[in-house]
Amino acid sequence: MAKFVPDITTNRWIIIAEGRSKRPKDLGKPEQAGVNKFCVFCPGYEKLSGTEVYRIGPGEPNSSGWQVRVISNKYPITDFHEVIIHSPDDAKDIDSLPLNQVHKILLTFRDRYNFHAKNGHVLIFNNVGEAAGASIRHPHSQLVVIPKQINLDALAFEPILNVVVDNQRFVVFCPDFSQWPFEVWIAPKIRNQYFGQITAEAISDLAAVLQDTLKRLISHLTAGEHFHPGVPMVSFKDGPAYNFYIHHGQDWYIRIIPRLVHRAGLELGTGLSVNIIDPTDAAEILRQEVKV
Ligand SMILES: [Zn+2]
Repeated sequence: MAKFVPDITTNRWIIIAEGRSKRPKDLGKPEQAGVNKFCVFCPGYEKLSGTEVYRIGPGEPNSSGWQVRVISNKYPITDFHEVIIHSPDDAKDIDSLPLNQVHKILLTFRDRYNFHAKNGHVLIFNNVGEAAGASIRHPHSQLVVIPKQINLDALAFEPILNVVVDNQRFVVFCPDFSQWPFEVWIAPKIRNQYFGQITAEAISDLAAVLQDTLKRLISHLTAGEHFHPGVPMVSFKDGPAYNFYIHHGQDWYIRIIPRLVHRAGLELGTGLSVNIIDPTDAAEILRQEVKV
């Protein structure tokens, strides 16, 4: 099990999670990865993955029939660590699943957030692509609970500037202080709430705006050789690579970070971020990106 190691002089904490290195990996070997490969997150292999704690869809726990499935992580970072399997589909993710499936995923996020709220800070996050730290290809998110006494160094809500798009209940924008190129935030228009307070109607709006935002990002960042000439960034040509997470605290938001650049010495040595794309330009580009 993980250890929390405090750095007394800076009040930062490090999680030492030794068992994590034993976890299986199916990314990084393109010739082996693919839909036909054995995948423990696919229907039919329920008994081989972690213990099921929640599902949307019919069927007994640890059997097929589910539409969204949550299991305890076999290689936990903390005491509560769950894997939320987005759908039975091994390839389609939030950007390409039917909208009602995205709705079910977000409903699951909310239910699990509320289930664990009493246990500590609930962080829900999603890693897509090896550059974003994903180790299993089948689309999934994770939920980790961090003990309340650990201070989390999370970003507070920022002013809404550089708007990409909005709908009835949400606004999508590229904050002025973006630390990463094409960083995008999705925020509810009703402020000062926790994610767990989101209503069923708002989940519908969020599903639409989250899918639309990912489509815009993926469409632009896959664009190949015309992709920002002269700017040292990788593209999504070999598949998308991004993270998103839901801010655990009050005044929640979703922060999406495409993984287009590597952090370098200056940044590691100073904690400063060098962002090679102006957020104003990023917002303008994403605004114009045609819906796929
Ligand atoms: Zn699979």
